[in-house]
Amino acid sequence: MKKKIASLAVLSVLSLSVFTGCSSTKQTEAKGKEEEQPIIIQGPMPIEAEKFAGKLENVKEETSGSFVFYKGTVDDYPVIVTKTGKGMENTAAATAVAIEKYDPIAIINQGTSGGHDPELNVFDIVLGEKTVNLGSLKTGNMADEEGIDPTAWKPMDLMASEGSAGEDPNAEKIRYYDGDEELLAAAKAVKDMYKKGKVVEGTIGSADVWNNEVDRIQWFHEKYGTSVEEMEGAAAAQIAGAYEVPFLGIRVLSNNKTNDGAYNPDTASANQEYVFEVVKEYISEME
Ligand code: SAH
Repeated sequence: MKKKIASLAVLSVLSLSVFTGCSSTKQTEAKGKEEEQPIIIQGPMPIEAEKFAGKLENVKEETSGSFVFYKGTVDDYPVIVTKTGKGMENTAAATAVAIEKYDPIAIINQGTSGGHDPELNVFDIVLGEKTVNLGSLKTGNMADEEGIDPTAWKPMDLMASEGSAGEDPNAEKIRYYDGDEELLAAAKAVKDMYKKGKVVEGTIGSADVWNNEVDRIQWFHEKYGTSVEEMEGAAAAQIAGAYEVPFLGIRVLSNNKTNDGAYNPDTASANQEYVFEVVKEYISEME
């Protein structure tokens, strides 16, 4: 379906370099066996990446900065698990590095999250039909001694234009990144295989913030429609979007302040088990 096959262009470069005796072996080697573009699976913390990495075959570990790439295969198809580290900056950089280095066919960002929806329980999984940056905000105009008023803060779309977002009224809107339809379809196709909770479609909100104020959580839930919050998805979605790489966030609830769902780190491996099934399904649909 989407798999790139050796193009005629590559073959002609190859034959041209043989003919001219030109030593462009790097290009021909790079394009040779690795013609299949890998699927990238990102996890922020060791508990969110290493379970999946342990399921890969033929694994080779590479690092770039603080990012660890476990390069292997699933059902003979190349899959690279990335341990990105926590937060938006790590994730954005790890996504750009991965795209430049490995030319992925798709990126899944997965891991734990905190519930914004009281209907969702710890161990339930949210498929990110949409992902949104909850840290892109513009405050109201308040003078000295007038205090702060967080519920009056407006969303700010940093992608609205190349001009000043602070001055542009058109930038006062929420920027959502859509989950890729084929990745979503693969995830939905295997949702019955997940037995530890339900799998729903929803909106994943991201920022380098851990919200523990239930009123603030409800404010995001109502204003942005968030199902869960975490610290990475929107950063990966934005960079994947910049390079037009299909993207999906898949997040398990490890905690939910809105219904007293206590933090459970075992959710991280449960999510990876499910994402592994999603990846196998996606690969099988390509062939
Ligand atoms: N619970 C850990 C901290 C994890 S830091 C501790 O106390 O040491 C946050 C990481 O967990 C991020 O990678 C983020 O994506 C995820 N996460 C899980 N629940 C979250 C929540 N309620 N708010 C923000 N991030 C959350």
